[in-house]
Amino acid sequence: MRLVMKFGGVSLANGVKIKAVADLIKSVKDTVKEQVIVTSALFDVTDILHEIAPRVVKEGKVEQVKEFVQGFRTMHEIVASEAIADEQILRVVKGELREQMEYLEKALIGICLLGELTARSCDYIVSFGERLAAPILAGTLQSIGIDAVHLTGGEAGIITNDDFGNAQVIAGAEDRIRARIMPLLKDNKVPVVCGYIGETKEGIITTTGRGGSDYTATLIGAAIGADETWLWKETEGIMSADPEIIKDARKIPYISYMEAMELSYFGASVLHPRAIEPVIEKKVPIRVKNLQMPEDAGTLIAEEPEQTDKAAKAITIIENASIVNIAGTAVKSISELAARIFSVLAMERVDIIMISHGSSERTVSIVINSAELKRAINAIQSINTSGTVIRDFTSNSNVCAMGVVGAGMAGTPGVAGKIFSALGNEGVSMIMISQGSSEYNISFVVKKEDAYRAAQAIHDMFEMGK
Ligand code: ASP
Ligand code: MG
Repeated sequence: MRLVMKFGGVSLANGVKIKAVADLIKSVKDTVKEQVIVTSALFDVTDILHEIAPRVVKEGKVEQVKEFVQGFRTMHEIVASEAIADEQILRVVKGELREQMEYLEKALIGICLLGELTARSCDYIVSFGERLAAPILAGTLQSIGIDAVHLTGGEAGIITNDDFGNAQVIAGAEDRIRARIMPLLKDNKVPVVCGYIGETKEGIITTTGRGGSDYTATLIGAAIGADETWLWKETEGIMSADPEIIKDARKIPYISYMEAMELSYFGASVLHPRAIEPVIEKKVPIRVKNLQMPEDAGTLIAEEPEQTDKAAKAITIIENASIVNIAGTAVKSISELAARIFSVLAMERVDIIMISHGSSERTVSIVINSAELKRAINAIQSINTSGTVIRDFTSNSNVCAMGVVGAGMAGTPGVAGKIFSALGNEGVSMIMISQGSSEYNISFVVKKEDAYRAAQAIHDMFEMGK
């Protein structure tokens, strides 16, 4: 059997936990001969790097950089010392950490002196999270007798475009991944690959977006024809709803690629949105496994079964959503208005969660992440400088977007009706609704104060928790 396993989050919070991860890898190795490990940064480290970079640019103090790197280095060294018992291996790992720290310090001093942080330098700086974690995990594995070698994303063949902060893998990467990984497996080695980061053809470091280690793992899984890709998390698996909000939320044992993709795009933070793409064609199942219950089967993400037991399997809530209503004036058609709006939003990289329109009034409503609202408003306002196109526009951030997901909804009459009556019973009114043509997802918008009640009512109505 051939397996790709990804670790991240709290499981990499300290040396004791990393040792536990290594022991888990070893116990899986008893039955699974070929394993590739993908690692995220140590817990919280990516956030820390994302925070320090703009701060040193703003404050411009080289002393501050030195102090930061000192603390950062000590923290990583402590973790390594806790995880690695073998003195000699520990010494080698500490040497590797020191070398990486020098590069990190140079980069931070560079942006500090220049007073400028580009997307490209930001990716370079945050990539150190994974580049420091991989030697520690590989060293920990070596110290318990596993022949582990660590690789950056680029070294593992993850070649991307230069869309810094959100890079995508380019054609040909698969062959390269195979060429880099397979010889190591043949040699009985366990590759420990940095998740989240890749490299352009020219060798410039990129990142694939927050939570991108999932994507790294499934890319490798697809490229090397793994039997399965396991994403180890702190949750039971993929849940029917957020258990902190919804009573009776439960683990979904089996979910199709398409359903999982809908969920990850619609606010369920359990998976990186692009993580499903690489494995669909190759049909490599993904398993979301719980670190607290390693024996549990977790959630299996695979092909659509012939029959699904439930019409709707899960409900998600995007809490920080804003709705923007735009009314056109001197436009000939809704298409013209929409074209102008979407092109400026695309230019500003505002992601649209939902769209709807009313043709008679020439209005378009979009739902976006509230964090992007300011950018969106500026972009939409800019349309008017080239003639009067927009008569009026309003926005409302006191809303939540919700998504109901399930392949069984396709072609099943009455699903929307059930959603309406669940909301009606609760006295919740719907502000906007849309359904994709796949019919795998019905999404709608309600007032913020109604959201949890609405979600619970729908979860109950479709018996998602049973
Ligand atoms: N370390 C990166 C992040 O925190 C990638 C990951 O965790 O998957 O976003
Ligand atoms: Mg992380």
